[in-house]
Amino acid sequence: MQWVGRAELVAAVAEAGALGMLTALTQPTPEALAAEIARTREMTDRPFGVNLTILPTITPPPYDEYRQAIVEGGVRIVETAGNLPAEHVEALQPHGVKIVHKCTTVRHALKAQALGVDAVSIDGFECAGHPGEDDVPGLVLIPRAADALTIPFIASGGFGDGRGLAAALALGADGINMGTRFMATVEAPVHDNVKQAVVAGDEHATELILRQLRNTSRVASNAVSREVVARLEAGADFADVRELVAGARGRGVYETGDLDAGIWSVGLVQALVTDVPTVAELVDRIVDDAAGVIAERLSGLLVTEPAGV
Ligand code: NAD
Repeated sequence: MQWVGRAELVAAVAEAGALGMLTALTQPTPEALAAEIARTREMTDRPFGVNLTILPTITPPPYDEYRQAIVEGGVRIVETAGNLPAEHVEALQPHGVKIVHKCTTVRHALKAQALGVDAVSIDGFECAGHPGEDDVPGLVLIPRAADALTIPFIASGGFGDGRGLAAALALGADGINMGTRFMATVEAPVHDNVKQAVVAGDEHATELILRQLRNTSRVASNAVSREVVARLEAGADFADVRELVAGARGRGVYETGDLDAGIWSVGLVQALVTDVPTVAELVDRIVDDAAGVIAERLSGLLVTEPAGV
């Protein structure tokens, strides 16, 4: 949710009774993150978190200063993502911060658990952004995580409706994480063209870029992402695609609505997104639909013996 996880959306998610995450690196400086945390607090007094992504970046961020902004801003939940968050766990937990580590394999989840993270978010291959290099979809990854982990975990990647929530719970997860689905909401701070593109997009309309560099990212299929795929398949290295994939360029998509301005992340679940509701409508609908699936469709499958037989 780089460029999307801002105060407007996070506060709306918190107000709807879910847990929203500001994306730290969306903010250009730690000071800007501190201001965004304060801005979110003005919009809601409910809990919210901050995501800290640890992946290769064109300009390496000062992570220690971002952490300081999180702690001083009174945030008590951090979602780490990308590499093993050893340094962040060590620095944040003494301040009472709970760590949810998002990763894409059970192997990495177990390492994070051993490190002492409080929960895991296990991210299936369907996801937007970085799915890792193992390509295991949620239907296998989630029950594998359920069997292997002793700490709570939520399921990420491919979730966008009540059927998905019920399925994740059935597979052993304690909840779901959604990114793409929240992009197509009234409060998402992105151009309406992006929201309509998520509604229109199907499960075929993504590209996996940076595969050859072992830094795979699932993004919307557009002129830029297809060019990146073509260049890397032809043997280019990062320097040859750097200008095309730069997040600073991709931000223009969200701001101007020009869908070919750069790279923007979206998951396969866009195929299930058919409208642009408010965040509150969406969260209520998902919870109600999941309850309906469990109470009606699933329990209706159980044959009960008539009394006295
Ligand atoms: P950026 O502009 O620094 O980099 C753009 C893309 O190129 C990113 O995918 C980045 O990982 C990749 N990249 C940068 N240097 C690289 C290198 N030397 N080798 C291979 N790949 C390289 O990043 P940004 O768009 O401003 O985003 C900031 C951070 O947020 C990055 O770490 C990015 O990966 C991360 N992000 C994560 C997700 C996710 O799925 N968790 C989604 C979007 C962005």
